Amino acid sequence: MQSPSDHSFAPDTPQAVLSQVFGYSAFRGPQAEIVEQLAAGGDALVLMPTGGGKSLCYQVPAILRHRRGQGVAVVVSPLIALMHDQVGALEEAGVHAAFLNSSLTGEEASRIERELMSGRLTLLYAAPERITTPRFLAQLGSLHERGLLSMFAIDEAHCVSQWGHDFRAEYLQLSLLHERFPDVPRIALTATADELTRRDIIERLQLQDARVFISSFDRPNIRYLIVEKNGSPREQLLRFIQDDHEGEAGVVYCQSRKKVEETAEFLQAQGINALPYHAGLDAELRRRHQDRFLREDGLVMVATIAFGMGIDKPDVRFVAHLDLPKNIEAYYQETGRAGRDGAPAEAWMTYGLADVVNQRRMIDESPADEVFKQGQRGKLDALLALAEATDCRRVRLLGYFGEDITARPAAGPSQGGASPLGGTERSDVWAYRCWNCDNCLNPPQTWDGTEAARKLLSCIYRFHQRGERFGAGHLIDVLRGKATDKTRQYGHDSLSTWGCGAELSEQQWRAVLRQLVALGHVAAEGEFNTLALQDSARAVLKGEVELRLREAEEKKPRGKASRTGARPKADPALVLDAEAQQRFEALKAWRSEVAREHGLPAYVIFQNTTLAEMSRVVPGDLAELGEISGVGAKKLEAYGREILRVLGRD
Ligand code: ADP
Ligand code: ZN
Repeated sequence: MQSPSDHSFAPDTPQAVLSQVFGYSAFRGPQAEIVEQLAAGGDALVLMPTGGGKSLCYQVPAILRHRRGQGVAVVVSPLIALMHDQVGALEEAGVHAAFLNSSLTGEEASRIERELMSGRLTLLYAAPERITTPRFLAQLGSLHERGLLSMFAIDEAHCVSQWGHDFRAEYLQLSLLHERFPDVPRIALTATADELTRRDIIERLQLQDARVFISSFDRPNIRYLIVEKNGSPREQLLRFIQDDHEGEAGVVYCQSRKKVEETAEFLQAQGINALPYHAGLDAELRRRHQDRFLREDGLVMVATIAFGMGIDKPDVRFVAHLDLPKNIEAYYQETGRAGRDGAPAEAWMTYGLADVVNQRRMIDESPADEVFKQGQRGKLDALLALAEATDCRRVRLLGYFGEDITARPAAGPSQGGASPLGGTERSDVWAYRCWNCDNCLNPPQTWDGTEAARKLLSCIYRFHQRGERFGAGHLIDVLRGKATDKTRQYGHDSLSTWGCGAELSEQQWRAVLRQLVALGHVAAEGEFNTLALQDSARAVLKGEVELRLREAEEKKPRGKASRTGARPKADPALVLDAEAQQRFEALKAWRSEVAREHGLPAYVIFQNTTLAEMSRVVPGDLAELGEISGVGAKKLEAYGREILRVLGRD
């Protein structure tokens, strides 16, 4: 049967493959050019953010080249756990693909090798350690001799760089591919943007002649929110989820295993479908939790950073941080797991004084050498500056990666879908607004904290003079003139700084102290986090440095009032009317059945956006159904009638 979506194109163009196989109407960003480059036999290095659409960049040329009789494309990927789903997704779309990795039995592997050698496969996914074995290289050699080795795709190419966060020694061997098969086109792909890593990839994979495609790393659909820890962070998290992400899939990052366990239990007790994930859990349980997260709707994964590499679930609606990540690279990578489907998503973080202290301490106490530590401190400072920022978070984030978005045409409030600002414009600070971060939507108040900072620092100085060290609690009691057993015991009510800061609340003083620690003027030391002045504090004490501080957020009553901006329309289903919503639910139920039967995650069958579109449009026949984005020819043939039946159109 001729499918309705492929009649208007010659079968061998990139556009035809995109529409017929994947059911999409247009390439995104640089995809079209990348596909052309590979299809014509050139090399490419692709730097594209998560969710940018990297897979199609090698899948479409692989399909084209296979159709032209050029054989199989070999995809190198370190993400063994995901190969099964990636291959399943291709097979669902009617593309013959397979994977070779250590999860297969000898028999299964032999069967796939036979399939490979026959030249029938379009794509073969393989782990890097397999690629460079003599046996596999010999197989590739035989394919190559017969003109059946169409191209190489090296996914997660940053793994070749020691500078990166996921260095894999086996990746270094991949230059072998180029040495053995110099005429086979290659594409390397990564979501890691920085210059150093990029240079490393080019050099180590010998991609000097490749065309480099660099996309903007902006993730416009992600809303960045960083809030102060206020009372109980867990309660803040709960409110965030209940108010804005009820029933939606999300990831909550915590630093320690213990905190992961406790937070997951807490959320479960509050009726939220949450699971823990950390390296201390037994491997089988971990695998089961990851599987459930990928396959079920609306699960919240509470995890350490052990979770996440290669999680390509498209409909993660939020990523929350209960602890500060290590640096901006880590923050961007972790938050980047939200909203891969392009629908609105939120990156939410709560942070406070203890985070700043802990992160500084982890660096100080690590066994690394001083030069390395200095580098780590610099990176932490950049992250703290982001957290304390009063201007656009997106500008700062992308600026850190060397991308200046302020040169873009001015965004308007309509773009972020949020309510316009009340109050006065401050053009000096607000040169650019993305309208999709907390600071742009709801500019924080700032105040001149120079005097307060001097009071706080001189109070610590008085302690030093007496040979004493104290932590934050006692310091703030003294500043506020709050008599306690301890203040009496040490006679601190006779200090010149006693009660000199009664005008600020405890929460406000904590914010001042946090910012002073973040700026490095004060350090928290030892087992009890006692505070010590640092050299740079002198200039502040002398009044040589002006400090503009972020206004502390006072405890807010429970409820939406404390949230910033209008809620982005997150789930595509939200824009459906009641009847369409019913159809959407029916389609989702049908999809769950199919996904279970096929042993694949639901989104591999159809993504939510595609089901939502079907529910809205209610196609009358197969031809109309084939027009919906995400419905390719194979899926139309396999599922078209059933979908029409579920929609009551058959
Ligand atoms: P990446 O690997 O860069 O993180 P993916 O390849 O997983 O991104 O793509 C992200 C999402 O975007 C997927 O759901 C994919 O189906 C979708 N997508 C990619 N390219 C297109 C396109 N041209 N049109 C519509 N959807 C696309
Ligand atoms: Zn912004």
